[in-house]
Amino acid sequence: MKIVAFAVGVSLIYASVHETVVGIQHDVGFVKRRSYAAANRVIIEAVPYIREIIHEGHPTLRKVAKKVRLDELRDPLFQQLIDDMFETMYHAPGIGLAAPQVNIGKRLFVVDLQDDHDEHGPLVVVNPKFSTTEGEIESIEGCLSVPGMIGDLKRHERVVCTGLDRFGKKVEVEGTGLFGRCLQHEMDHLDGVLYIDKAQNIRPAHTDEEKAALAEVDGQAQAPERFAEAATA
Ligand SMILES: [Zn+2]
Repeated sequence: MKIVAFAVGVSLIYASVHETVVGIQHDVGFVKRRSYAAANRVIIEAVPYIREIIHEGHPTLRKVAKKVRLDELRDPLFQQLIDDMFETMYHAPGIGLAAPQVNIGKRLFVVDLQDDHDEHGPLVVVNPKFSTTEGEIESIEGCLSVPGMIGDLKRHERVVCTGLDRFGKKVEVEGTGLFGRCLQHEMDHLDGVLYIDKAQNIRPAHTDEEKAALAEVDGQAQAPERFAEAATA
């Protein structure tokens, strides 16, 4: 009898500890999941999930993100981070998301304009750099980390961005128009810069045109049809 009671007791303690750890795993995310997996020698299912997007005022958004090492990139949990970033971006909805926006201080971003051009995504760039920047255009931008606000700012008209894909292979993408602006906006996030640092006339979005502009780089709360459709696809 004592042995049975002891076994039941141990099982309950195990279940309690297990649930607590799994709870922490879901709440805290990447780091805790890694330590949990290592400690328990389990394989975590690669199911993408939506991470919390942090907002202006959070210290991670103001730090220069760290370069991603190749061994880090090959870690299944880092691959999971990439999947999660896409999932989070589509759900927001938005067209770009940088790792610091989900509280990960690493140099990578995801972009998907969700239009008819394959070169506009889905794209992930790890350790991105601009090899070319030219021209100047005026634009209106919004940001998932500064909800509901827009501002006017100047960006380069054309950029060429180089970096690594999720497998560690070199990538080079050319961006003009919205795609180019999105690349520049996400690159700024990796250097602890928000568009509001550069913008003028920062204001809440009121008109439909302004609300549509909010959705462009890198997203907003009230989405135009095409983003809403993408988010539920
Ligand atoms: Zn942003």
